[in-house]
Amino acid sequence: MRPTLPNITADRLHNAMTIDVEDYFHVSAFDGVVPRSRWTGLESRVCANTDRLLAILDGAHVLATFFILGWVAERYPDLVRRIASLGHEVASHGYGHRLVYDQTREEFRGDVRRAKHALEGITGAPVHGFRAPSYSVTPRSLWALDVLIEEGYLYDASIFPIHHDRYGIPVSARHAYMVERERGSLLEVPASTLRWAGLNLPVGGGGYFRMLPYPWTRWSIDRINRAENRPVIFYLHPWEIDPGQPRLDGALLSRIRHYRNLDKTESRLRRLLKDFAFEPLRDVMLEPASAVGSSGLALALPYVW
Ligand SMILES: [Zn+2]
Repeated sequence: MRPTLPNITADRLHNAMTIDVEDYFHVSAFDGVVPRSRWTGLESRVCANTDRLLAILDGAHVLATFFILGWVAERYPDLVRRIASLGHEVASHGYGHRLVYDQTREEFRGDVRRAKHALEGITGAPVHGFRAPSYSVTPRSLWALDVLIEEGYLYDASIFPIHHDRYGIPVSARHAYMVERERGSLLEVPASTLRWAGLNLPVGGGGYFRMLPYPWTRWSIDRINRAENRPVIFYLHPWEIDPGQPRLDGALLSRIRHYRNLDKTESRLRRLLKDFAFEPLRDVMLEPASAVGSSGLALALPYVW
């Protein structure tokens, strides 16, 4: 029996659409399979896939935030220019797709500095946002927030408040909040979860969007929008709409997570863009406090932004 879906009206709260721009071989799950020294020799599909995403978003009149890998930006600056010229937000996914907790503080500083510099050099506009590879800001790498403040980032979207084998801080807040540190402050924008039976369930994109039935995603986003009056931070990668990408060897779980339902993602995304309203993260966070939720956030934003 098909579940009964809520009637979603035109009067909708705006969610954030975010894209992590990387190629299929950058994915952390294949770290041990594809050495970095081989990256340049592999067939690159990131430009074609990102251009398809741009066309899909354009068709739905949706602007998004693109967290772009510095490695990609240096090789394909025209792609970054295309993204920016269409009005999307350009943000940073770090330079070399290294997990934060596998780096020293100074290695991480070098990585996020190089990515920000590369992106700003191409667009001529400041980069405010950062998302770590594989949400790798965890209890053992929280120092990363200090580094991001020192390097001039204004918001971070790297904390997933769930239990997972590779990432997550299950006890952290589920919605945006200010992180106050000695050297300044940073807006933390966690990946979206649905609160259910005492658990935080991931609902906001990526593998969860591909593997779980679309009605579940739709119901969950609607519930967060309506019952909590909060935006969902949705995320996707260009390789997730590319069923023709070369297959890489790897652990069975990694292969299931990466390859499952690649052929269904594009049509699901088109439905999602019809069912909900989306904006870049910067705009969602600038909406009135009722949309963002946390009291004090709207007051703090003019100083942060
Ligand atoms: Zn990534």
